[in-house]
Order: sequence, then C-alpha cells, then structure tokens
Amino acid sequence: MSTVRRKSLGIGLALSSGLSLLLIPAGVPGLMAVGDDTAPKTAASETVTSKTAASQTAAPAKDASPESKPARREPGSESAAPEPVKQLFAGRVLFAQQALKARGIQVADEMKSQAVLVTDSGEILPIAADWRGRAFFQDERLRNRTVEVIGYRRSGLPYLQVLTIYVVDEKDGRQEMDYWCDICSIPMYEIKECECCQGPIRFRLRPAKLPDFLSEKTGSKPTPSANAAQ
Ligand SMILES: [Zn+2]
Repeated sequence: MSTVRRKSLGIGLALSSGLSLLLIPAGVPGLMAVGDDTAPKTAASETVTSKTAASQTAAPAKDASPESKPARREPGSESAAPEPVKQLFAGRVLFAQQALKARGIQVADEMKSQAVLVTDSGEILPIAADWRGRAFFQDERLRNRTVEVIGYRRSGLPYLQVLTIYVVDEKDGRQEMDYWCDICSIPMYEIKECECCQGPIRFRLRPAKLPDFLSEKTGSKPTPSANAAQ
C-alpha cells in the first residue's frame, strides 16, 4: 500500500537526515576515535544522501513524524485495537470555526484552520492533516462543495483520516481528485512542487466510481465513463 511505502520512505529520510546531523559534528577530533579512515567517508556520503533526499521531498521529517514515532500510550489502548474499517463519508468540508458558527457556537480564531467534514447527516468530523487529508486544509477548491471521502476513524479519536477524495456535482458526477505532474506523470496528494521535477503540479479530477467494497449509499450519481485511466 502506498501509505506504507510513503511512511517508510519518510522514516528513512528522517533517519538519514538525523544521521548526517550526528555525523557532521562527528568530524570533530575525539568523537572519531575508531576507524579514522572510513568514518569520515561515511559521514560525507551520508551528508550527500540526505541533502539529495531533502531536496527531492519537501519537509520529509515533518511528514513522517506524526505517525512514525512510537507513541507513548497506555498499554493495550490502541495497539490492541482492530484495523479501522474504511468507509465512505459524504458532505462538505469547512473550517471548524465556520462549521461551529452555523450551529451557534462561537469559537476563537485558533480553530480557524482546522478542516472539518460536515456530513450529510450533520455530524462534524475534524480531518487529520495527514498525507491525504492535508489537501482539505491547503486547497480552497476542495472546501464548501459536495465531496465524498473514503477514509476511516480510529477508535477513541474524533479525526477522519482520508484515503481518497471525490468531488461530486450535478454536471460531472463523481470525480476523483489528486494533483498531477504532466511532465513526470505522477500523482501527488498535497500542494507542493513536483516531487520529481520540482515543477508545478495541477489539480486533477477524473471521472470515478466507488470501489466495490463500498455500496452506493449516498445517492450521488456516478459518472458513466468511470474507468478512464487518467
Ligand atoms: Zn514532475
């Protein structure tokens, strides 16, 4: 699964940047007592690696940190929890302040930038700004319009974790959303420079149907040409 690959890449990058931070000062005499010949070379190549990696991926450590850290939790609280079930969530994404205001709840600006899904049944679900959910925070084009999200909630957490985003409208039906680099032909999931060529990426919508494991329960009409490649 791409999430997993992405995470392990992030961890790798975080580790290598961490290593280079350790190893650069290790050039100081005294810290380098063992292996005088080999250690500096290792340090140098490590530095190059991490620089390259850092320039390819914007802020890798930041991406990797939230979930890759072994969390300090009560024993058995989450590790024992079953794998969360992927579900379809439908509604509109707003910022929390606005969504709460519509319910007569005034909150301060600190809640301005928390994206929430207001579901068709009226529930307000805060969205986790992870690798996929972050787009709702970044991109105005995804807010205040009808969307469907495949995602999940973990036991004990209010957050909706997003895996797939569809926008839905009368004219075009259901369309899957991502960001696309026309040069490299790779999809991305947040607004940034292309991971590969550093060029601009564009907002992409493609006609889509829901995966088989989700039933058509939202009443939004799927588009006819659902299996267009890209
Ligand atoms: Zn590119």
